Amino acid sequence: MATSDKPPGRVVVVGGVAAGMSAASQIRRRRPGAKVTVFERGGYISYGACGMPYNLEDPERAIDDLVVLSPQKARKERGIELELRHEVTEIDLERMDVEVADLEGGGRRREPFDALVVATGARAVRLPLPGFDLPGVEVLRTLDDGAAIKHILEDDPAQVVVIGAGYIGMEMAHVLTERGLQVTVLEKLSQLLPGWHEETVAMVADELESHGVAFHTGAAVEGAEAGADGTVAAVIADGKTFEADLVLVAAGVRPNAELAAAAGLRIGDTGAIWANQSQQTSHPAVWAAGDCAEAYHRVLRRNAWIPLGTTANKQGRIAGANVAGADERFAGIVGTAGFVVFDLEVARSGLSEKEARAEGFDPVAVTIRQRSRAHAYPDSSPVHVHLVADRESGLLLGGEVVGREGAALRSNILATALAAHMTVADVQNLDLVYAPPFAPVWDPILVAANQLIKKVS
Ligand SMILES: Cc1cc2nc3c(=O)[nH]c(=O)nc-3n(C[C@H](O)[C@H](O)[C@H](O)COP(=O)(O)OP(=O)(O)OC[C@H]3O[C@@H](n4cnc5c(N)ncnc54)[C@H](O)[C@@H]3O)c2cc1C
Repeated sequence: MATSDKPPGRVVVVGGVAAGMSAASQIRRRRPGAKVTVFERGGYISYGACGMPYNLEDPERAIDDLVVLSPQKARKERGIELELRHEVTEIDLERMDVEVADLEGGGRRREPFDALVVATGARAVRLPLPGFDLPGVEVLRTLDDGAAIKHILEDDPAQVVVIGAGYIGMEMAHVLTERGLQVTVLEKLSQLLPGWHEETVAMVADELESHGVAFHTGAAVEGAEAGADGTVAAVIADGKTFEADLVLVAAGVRPNAELAAAAGLRIGDTGAIWANQSQQTSHPAVWAAGDCAEAYHRVLRRNAWIPLGTTANKQGRIAGANVAGADERFAGIVGTAGFVVFDLEVARSGLSEKEARAEGFDPVAVTIRQRSRAHAYPDSSPVHVHLVADRESGLLLGGEVVGREGAALRSNILATALAAHMTVADVQNLDLVYAPPFAPVWDPILVAANQLIKKVS
């Protein structure tokens, strides 16, 4: 943990969730004399957005259960100057200050900085369709959004239309079904879980069907209609009417990079803020971390934009350490993500076959099915493993793991192998744990590697 003796000065952090609060805490820990001011335009800081679906499932849990660090603690115990409901409206890199609007009290002021951390995150896409501004048409991104949905659920709505069948759409289809709502999922593209392997998609579709979730792919949503009380009552798609007391738009996210772009900071090809592995932007006094920023991808060996909480925490911490004078590098991501839909664990890491081809690899792939526990051990269930590798080099490029038990965490083997640039032969020879209650003698990952090795040249 190298930290130089450079004086800490004044640091402004824009955004107070995973990346921003990790950075602010890290700076204060390493430089207790630093003045660190966090501006957050929302009403909450430092919460686990990832836990929102499961919080919404449980009517007894307050939404602010998800707050990890309260504003009081951040101020008192970490010495962070925190301004909630304050929006940074301009970054001036010549004057080295930001303009801040007080969203509650009104008025604007300027705040100077010696170093700036941009941690403005991402926003949910809101569809610009007729009726999509009606009460009851919601997105789920911030804790304020979660609180609004929780409030609607108190009135026991009967039907919900979820627009978008990515991982948040799937998680919400699951938890809203568990809360007793009739769920319909509408997906614009031709498959659920765009970008995932067809066998994974088929298993997820079966899981939805067996729990009574209706879904339509290739659905062109046209708009929403209000009921007599002025709140949303239906979604129109493909000329059909889908009744809905609640509409959840889970149609993707975009990086909040406009503020940085207006200040002249470099924006990457992905549309997110460019940063190097120190999380430093194109300006030496400005760092960027979390969902607003690109991340170095270890398989692609270049920056990518895969906005996830685990990355935001790590990048925020590294940005903070480096602002405090350290010289730390973010090792990078390999594109690992996972979720649960009812009883099915679904996870992936690395590239799909299609992505690999687009990157210039010549991919080969297999999909296998192996039981989760030893042959004679009771209660095992199938684990499906899909692996992708480069034909010529044998380099592992990616994979997906799906099953009712032991699937999601098995994908961590793939994440580790990808980070280490292992070949299929390396994976085939891994010394994985075997004990009848939780793995067969040939683990599903090894079985997949045994099959895939036959396809590499
Ligand atoms: C429902 C849901 C489930 C998820 N599940 C997972 C999961 O299982 N695993 C996983 O790894 N990730 C998951 N994620 C993603 C994860 O929550 C995000 O990657 C993480 O929150 C990113 O943190 P961040 O600090 O970069 O950005 P954000 O959480 O977006 O925070 C940025 C903050 O900056 C503030 N801000 C923006 N502009 C300004 C401005 N100009 N002035 C002041 N403040 C500003 C915003 O108000 C916001 O509060 C999930 C997200 C959601 C919504």
